[in-house]
Amino acid sequence: MKILVLNAGSSSLKYALYETSPEAAKADTDKLLGEGMVERVTTMTGALKTAFKDLRPLLQGEIIAGVGHRVVHGGTFPGAMVIDAAVERAIDELSALAPLHNPRSLAAYRAAREHEPNATHVAVFDTAFHQTLPRHAYAYAIPPRYLDDKKVRRYGFHGISHRSVALRFARLQRKPVEALRIISCHLGNGCSVCAVDRGHSIDTSMGFTPLEGLVMGARSGDMDASALLYLITHEHEDPAALLTMLNNESGMKAISGLSNDMRDILSAADSGNARARFAVDAFCYRAKKFIGAYMAAMNGADALIFTAGIGENSAAIRAGIATGLDQLGISVDPALNDLKSTVARCVGSSQIPVWVVPTEEQLLIARDTMTCIVAQSAHSG
Ligand code: ADP
Repeated sequence: MKILVLNAGSSSLKYALYETSPEAAKADTDKLLGEGMVERVTTMTGALKTAFKDLRPLLQGEIIAGVGHRVVHGGTFPGAMVIDAAVERAIDELSALAPLHNPRSLAAYRAAREHEPNATHVAVFDTAFHQTLPRHAYAYAIPPRYLDDKKVRRYGFHGISHRSVALRFARLQRKPVEALRIISCHLGNGCSVCAVDRGHSIDTSMGFTPLEGLVMGARSGDMDASALLYLITHEHEDPAALLTMLNNESGMKAISGLSNDMRDILSAADSGNARARFAVDAFCYRAKKFIGAYMAAMNGADALIFTAGIGENSAAIRAGIATGLDQLGISVDPALNDLKSTVARCVGSSQIPVWVVPTEEQLLIARDTMTCIVAQSAHSG
């Protein structure tokens, strides 16, 4: 069946058309028929029109059976959901926790539903994979009423990506994912590390929102909450402005004073820019600490995987993170690590092998959407 995947970003709409089925997903033979991106989106309806114009010839007269929508915050939904009125309302309510993301996904859904009223629309959440975190990993150590009444807890994000690289790595190893302990590092504009213990996420570095954890392009990652309360109480800083500062003006952009783009920062560091070097060191150091933590959480690991823009493309960052982990059984091989490639590959055959595995979020969204459609028709038939 033909599945359209939609991924609405803050100003862009990525789209992809897949041909898939339960058999094709199992055999890994599903096909990407076409993909593209509309940038500087003003209205979702307009963006979708462009996408459909691009994809229509690829449909060859067939209908779109399902539309898979990437949704960043799915609260406690444990998996992909067919979007009905209740799911739509839940995504809307979760917008308070993901104000940059969920409203865009909803807008894309509403526009796509207008355009494809007969297709099954499915929400695939970035949070769902982390619903297996045990309570001791997802609960903050604060009075439980904040968790029970206010839903303040760690949710985790990038779940589609972490799940996709864990599954791809297991397939390449010809091992069931249930036999592997994997530490997955998704390093893009947003960055997170995940401990995938025998197929289940048991811990991840992002928390209540995608701000916690690693140093990112423009996000601070971990910091002491009382420092912010100090700024609000004693320095009369505005809470909303602080939130913007933490999400948009911090991280690598703030430390380097240059840019949130890792390529710019690495080339400045190479040319002797001290702030850029300091930023790279801070980035690698924070990632390294989480790798150590997740080795402790799983009592070891069977693989360390890098993915996303930085993880897939930057040999320097992979080497920087792995430096000084040899006593833990992790090191990269400079010759393998420096090879330029776009396919999954081993970059360090240390005791714990180090791999680059390109993320396949769109493929996973297509498969989850197809699986929901199959389950729904089995249920109604
Ligand atoms: P998003 O999280 O928006 O999907 P990506 O996964 O595309 O982002 O990652 C974007 C990041 O990847 C940027 O910081 C960019 O600088 C970085 N990047 C892409 N190619 C390289 C490269 N060759 N070397 C270093 N960083 C790179």
